[in-house]
Amino acid sequence: MGSRKVTSTVSADFQGKHVTVAGLGVSGIPAAKVLHARGALVTVVNDGDDARAREQAAELEALGITVRLGDGATLPEGTDLIVTAPGWKPDKPLFEAARAAGVEIWGDVELAWRLRGPDAAPWLAITGTNGKTTTTQMLASILKAAGLRTAAVGNIGVSVLDAVLGEEQYDVLAVELSSYQLHWAPSLRAHSAAVLNLAPDHLDWHGSMEAYARDKGRVYEGNRVACVYNVADKATEDLVREADVEEGCRAIGFTLGSPGPSQLGVVDGILVDRAFVENRQKNAQELAEVSDVNPPAPHNIANALAAAALARAFGVPAKAVRDGLRAFTPDAHRIAHVADVDGVAYVDDSKATNTHAAEASLAAYESIVWIAGGLAKGASFDELVAKSAKRLRGVVLIGADRALIREALARHAPEVPVVDLDRTDTGAMLQAVTEAKRLARPGDTVLLAPACASMDMFTNYNKRGDAFAEAVRELGS
Ligand code: ADP
Repeated sequence: MGSRKVTSTVSADFQGKHVTVAGLGVSGIPAAKVLHARGALVTVVNDGDDARAREQAAELEALGITVRLGDGATLPEGTDLIVTAPGWKPDKPLFEAARAAGVEIWGDVELAWRLRGPDAAPWLAITGTNGKTTTTQMLASILKAAGLRTAAVGNIGVSVLDAVLGEEQYDVLAVELSSYQLHWAPSLRAHSAAVLNLAPDHLDWHGSMEAYARDKGRVYEGNRVACVYNVADKATEDLVREADVEEGCRAIGFTLGSPGPSQLGVVDGILVDRAFVENRQKNAQELAEVSDVNPPAPHNIANALAAAALARAFGVPAKAVRDGLRAFTPDAHRIAHVADVDGVAYVDDSKATNTHAAEASLAAYESIVWIAGGLAKGASFDELVAKSAKRLRGVVLIGADRALIREALARHAPEVPVVDLDRTDTGAMLQAVTEAKRLARPGDTVLLAPACASMDMFTNYNKRGDAFAEAVRELGS
């Protein structure tokens, strides 16, 4: 960790500045409005030109904002600054033109960061390939239990812009940040931050694993108190080492094993802190029991430790960590226990949309009938299947790219019975669950952890999880 200051040529005074907002939508519309209200001359550019876009454009034009539909590629004349929707890819011609002209590009998070007032609440930031939403919500729950005014914001629910500009006063914010948002947030400086884990994801957007990791690592830049990393994932520790942070900022590890000094970990079923205690060479502070974490799956205990580390970095007492974890309930479709039928547990982890998430999910159970498949997004299943093979009682495959998983199973788990469902209609999930029931024995877990996106068969992962739960209910009745 070293120290360096980043400078920007654009101040947060927008009076008379020509600002181009790239993308109508959840972040673009509020950004255009606030910039306009602060005196900027705003032009919104958007690739699409459909009925919805026209409606949104009319609303902005009525305020005096210029909107250019159907052309998100050309840089408007005289642009001083671009504020982009986080999902726009960095290699778009608009950005190439901006870079050539020396125009800065900010995302929604950067804009929010610049618009914070002098007494604004500090940010505790969380990123990683998986577990962001859960950990951010756990953190908010812990901070609330400590009596602090806070909210979980960012890549969930409330946008950072709303949190920063709204009426509500906060003491501290729990901020979930995606790799896209971090890419476009060059001057963000969190109080403390965590990278939960790093596995290949969104590589088509970032261009390479190195570029993806670099963007995730930005969350540590300028941290003041703690950079929290995952001891089991060396790549996250490497990012801490490479970060430029404030003098005195500490590297804090979390581990499912016994913690060393400056780490949080687990000893005999107790979550303990050996980082934010006096004399950490000798002492440890008990925070909570593993059973206080809901659900107590290994990866979720890791999430709880990361949330606890950030809360402790902010000075939260141990008791609030326990109370906050006890008060937390995970969002739907994240290792949700649906029902027990004939001694078999049915668990919905539809949110496991990539192999890294599914691997964590499978590691939480001893004997599993695994329901998997969907859109693979270019993933390879070899590692996942090889690591999980010994836990598999059987597998039921659904969805467009199921052959990829079938082939990996043939290579690494040839003994495991596989049912391959060649249908994508609405009845497919009921058949999948029926087949899973047939394969399962008492004590087993039927686990929907598809390792794939859902859009080949369902509107989204919520709908996929709902279909699973409905099928289980039908089986049980
Ligand atoms: P994100 O916001 O990063 O998508 P979520 O908290 O919504 O993360 O969890 C998404 C899925 O990732 C969960 O359903 C679970 O399968 C998996 N998951 C959660 N935490 C972890 C973790 N620490 N490591 C690996 N996988 C995880």
